[in-house]
Amino acid sequence: MPDLEFLLTPSPAASEVLVCLELETSSQPGATGSDLLLFLPTWTPGSYLVREFSRHLSQVQAEDSDSGAILACKKASKNRFAVSCLASTRRVRLRYRVYAHELTVRTADVTGEHAFWNHACVLLWPVGGDTLTARITVDLPDGWDFACALRTTEPAGRAPTGVHRVALLAESMERAYDAPFLAGRLIRQRWQSRGIEHEVVLDGLATVPVPDKLLGDLQRVVETAAAVFQGQLPYARYSFLCLFTADGHGGLEHSDSTVLLAARTSLHSERGYREFLALAAHELFHAWNVKRMRPVEFWRYDYENENYTRLLWLLEGWTAYYDDLLCFRAGLTSRADYLGVLAKSIQTLSGNPGRLRLSLADSSYDAWIRLYRPDENTRNSSQNYYVNGSIAAMCMDLHVRRRTQGKRSLDDVLRRLFDATYGAGRGLTEEDVWAAFATEADDTVAQQVRQLVNECFDPELAPLLHAFGVKLDTRETERPYLGLQFDSGQTTVASVTAGSPASAAGLQAGDEILAIDSLRVDSSRWQDVFQAVARVDQPLQVLISRRGVVQTRSATPAKGPGTVALAVDEKANEEATALREAWLPAPAAPPKS
Ligand SMILES: [Zn+2]
Repeated sequence: MPDLEFLLTPSPAASEVLVCLELETSSQPGATGSDLLLFLPTWTPGSYLVREFSRHLSQVQAEDSDSGAILACKKASKNRFAVSCLASTRRVRLRYRVYAHELTVRTADVTGEHAFWNHACVLLWPVGGDTLTARITVDLPDGWDFACALRTTEPAGRAPTGVHRVALLAESMERAYDAPFLAGRLIRQRWQSRGIEHEVVLDGLATVPVPDKLLGDLQRVVETAAAVFQGQLPYARYSFLCLFTADGHGGLEHSDSTVLLAARTSLHSERGYREFLALAAHELFHAWNVKRMRPVEFWRYDYENENYTRLLWLLEGWTAYYDDLLCFRAGLTSRADYLGVLAKSIQTLSGNPGRLRLSLADSSYDAWIRLYRPDENTRNSSQNYYVNGSIAAMCMDLHVRRRTQGKRSLDDVLRRLFDATYGAGRGLTEEDVWAAFATEADDTVAQQVRQLVNECFDPELAPLLHAFGVKLDTRETERPYLGLQFDSGQTTVASVTAGSPASAAGLQAGDEILAIDSLRVDSSRWQDVFQAVARVDQPLQVLISRRGVVQTRSATPAKGPGTVALAVDEKANEEATALREAWLPAPAAPPKS
């Protein structure tokens, strides 16, 4: 018998999940007899922000399962509930409702079309009961299919008429919270990779057809990811759960599955499809990097409080580097396209001066208050450990390859780290990372890596890429530049780049730009007007409205950061060409095995 017995009933009309939980009073470790203490996570691993899922819980009620006597149930903190049991109470039944109308990869959403939830949003769990097992029985409308990484088991009790009852078994709290649930009229495709069953489950496509090549392309992504780890897949079964909607893009990693959210039309545009495959590759790669190999601070997640780590540049940055790289290695992206994606990341990096203030490691630590809570100053005060972390990963890869004359790469470092930490049943530390670089390359490279992540991030990319037969050119630097970002569809300043002409002119976030050089602007005309009148080193009159007061500022455009372009250097010497062809072989060679 499982320790916890959940019955979940989606209620589309109310956008709710109705939950019934039964458990023995003795199931709470260390319980003093009279009280049961349960909690709901405040966040979910992979998304480092306290989201307060318990704000969606209501009408939490408890009763003695045997006698039906009502038991007092009180909030014990924002996300904890205390049930006062009677001396005779052996088994408790809790009922509560969870509001579910937020379609993201980490929340819960129940409509007439589908039911999706992350179990961290819906399952109350006894405090300290990490090792308790749970049966999660779900009542679904007839005709609905479901997908979840948990294994199925016999449902508890008999389903009401017109209801399709399914049941899942979670061997522990982490297993339950790590396995999102999706149900509806799903499209499902299955295949075997390396003898392991994989599936892609598609929800919300409406009238959009599934591309014929999707299954084959995902299969290649899986094979290419496995090749990094010498062909070993770390799970017994894997599901890509795909939520399609009008727009949006994101994913959340789990040990044996992932949830991807994308625009349904993206599957049929060249760029959208490429981005979808890169997203799938990203989340799959997390099955190794984050879900298994993970920092010692994440070894046992604290679901109620912030879990700090200085390693998100490795967890997310390396994964962001590998997602596009895997698509390239799998032959799904051309080398020119891959270099285009890299160029875009370098462009983003160079336009955000916050990397000169806060290191990648410090930005990782501060994820909870910075990356997930961006504001007008974020780009000037912090850095994105995804984009910049992917460029740092590329630098690390190239440093290792150059130092070892192409004999070793970041693949070897990653494999060593994986084996040395997860393989040994323990969490990852920063010291492990430096040691892996020292072993696979040498101390000099290990020191370069430490500097990349612990100091301001300003790598010399052009010479590094030059050593790999890749040219980095910056074009259009003659274009006048102010350093302003606008709110979408407006000329209200969203942020001002530190050190830019706009900053020197005293322009601030929140200022609405009304005119430049007496010409009225709005969001649709801004580009044309700016291009017509702005000249490098010539002052512009900028008419603004600041907090309701109209005033004039003078701003002098400077030369801009330009547009970064990467291309194969056909004139590279033999050594550089050999390094490049080992890194980015053309045409894409089959993955290393
Ligand atoms: Zn990620």
